Amino acid sequence: MTARLNTAGLPPSNGQPTTPAIMTLDRDGKLIKEVGFDRFGFDSRVELSLLRSLYLRPHYVKRDGDGSGSDNDETEHHAKFVQGFAAYQSKSIYHPATHSISYTTLSRFPPVKLLPPSARKRILVTGGGGFVGSHLVDRLMLLGHEVTVLDNFFTGSKTNVAHWVGHPNFELCRHDVVEPFMIECDQIYHLACPASPPHYQFNAVKTIKTSFMGTLNMLGLAKRTKARFLITSTSEVYGDPEVHPQNEEYWGNVNPIGPRACYDEGKRVAETLTYGFHRQDGVDVRVARIFNTFGPRMNPYDGRVVSNFIIQALKGEDMTVYGDGAQTRSFQYIHDLVDGLIALMNADETRPVNIGSPDEFTILDFARAVRDIVERVKREDGVEVGRKCEIIHGPMPTDDPQKRRPDTTRAREKLGWEPRWTVAMGVEEMVRYYMAKMAEGSL
Ligand code: NAD
Ligand code: UDP
Repeated sequence: MTARLNTAGLPPSNGQPTTPAIMTLDRDGKLIKEVGFDRFGFDSRVELSLLRSLYLRPHYVKRDGDGSGSDNDETEHHAKFVQGFAAYQSKSIYHPATHSISYTTLSRFPPVKLLPPSARKRILVTGGGGFVGSHLVDRLMLLGHEVTVLDNFFTGSKTNVAHWVGHPNFELCRHDVVEPFMIECDQIYHLACPASPPHYQFNAVKTIKTSFMGTLNMLGLAKRTKARFLITSTSEVYGDPEVHPQNEEYWGNVNPIGPRACYDEGKRVAETLTYGFHRQDGVDVRVARIFNTFGPRMNPYDGRVVSNFIIQALKGEDMTVYGDGAQTRSFQYIHDLVDGLIALMNADETRPVNIGSPDEFTILDFARAVRDIVERVKREDGVEVGRKCEIIHGPMPTDDPQKRRPDTTRAREKLGWEPRWTVAMGVEEMVRYYMAKMAEGSL
């Protein structure tokens, strides 16, 4: 068993505030200090505070008099959650007088595990500039692997992984997966695909091309390099399900010609391709069927429900529930998903595996819960609560699934995986992330 990453020996926190870090309790009420596990010969444990320092971080330091009387107001808002890691924060400087930023290349990176060459893997993450991808990249980098991100930045952003650019173990390639890509690698996490309904419906034909041709290209690469291949499929393959909760044996109820079909059918054919390469060419495959996931770095304007509700509640705007809000979703936090993806990649299970949370909410109840959490966090952090948001109703999108909750028996039995984060803890952290971005002026 290799040593865990820890904060010992890190430089002092540069005089930043020493407010206690956020206390996050798991579903059993125990303090979460680290994420990951040591299983299947793969130790994926990382300190939560170190991971947090990568997303609860300021984009810049504020300088020059701006009349506020303080140099570091905005920075402090982030810094109080990332104690001890200030030395690895961006030193880019914001000049309020000219509303400009002097960007500085980071000369120091967070400590990554030193792995022997036999344990260090060359890992390709397609879609690594997106929400899920960037968190997976953070974890794999901290664990000491060599990571290549391939992304066309359609919905993702370079800033999501900017803190690794220049690191000797990291490479960033702007590339579209519908075009072939050659590289030597041991594992491929194939995530590239827009995931929010407005984004994947923006150009339906491109979404289908990405799902089909992108997956074909990445499977071809896996075949040539003999890399293990994991695709992030989705609960959408079950469509508007007639079986509840959904287990992996259920074939689904998908409208093949509706507005969601480009994504749903795209992922279904991507799974078909994956098992074609597996049976025909012996490619070593893994299929994760992900249920609704949320967390920091979600594009705040990509239209998905968690980011929409948090932003609306933070800004004191009306919260838009589509339809009567009786439709259900089960929400999991990003760190649980990354644990599940890494467990699946390194386990022996080649069948599809659901990765999601059992915490099922009606969307109306979820809106109320988010509103309450936003108010509480604002109060705790001394921010003015403002007006109480109204919940208003908008039109129900076509083919919107009426209920969704995963049966995760297979993940529990085959991967030893279960979600640890509660929805409340996750939403709370995401609220703080967006609040900090707002205070900083980058949202
Ligand atoms: P995201 O939109 O934040 O990330 C997708 C990434 O893929 C982005 O960086 C985007 O720029 C990139 N991309 C899109 N098309 C590409 C192309 N043609 N070539 C190269 N890069 C391309 O979405 P996410 O939530 O991070 O989702 C990641 C993966 O997980 C997707 O495959 C998605 O289907 C799957 N998934 C996510 C969820 C969820 O709740 N977040 C649920 C089910 C499945
Ligand atoms: N939704 C909503 N208000 C919003 C965004 C979404 O009521 O501002 C609803 C949407 O109709 C769906 C659920 O929330 O029933 C989840 O939507 P999302 O786009 O996040 O993901 P989906 O699971 O539909 O892909």
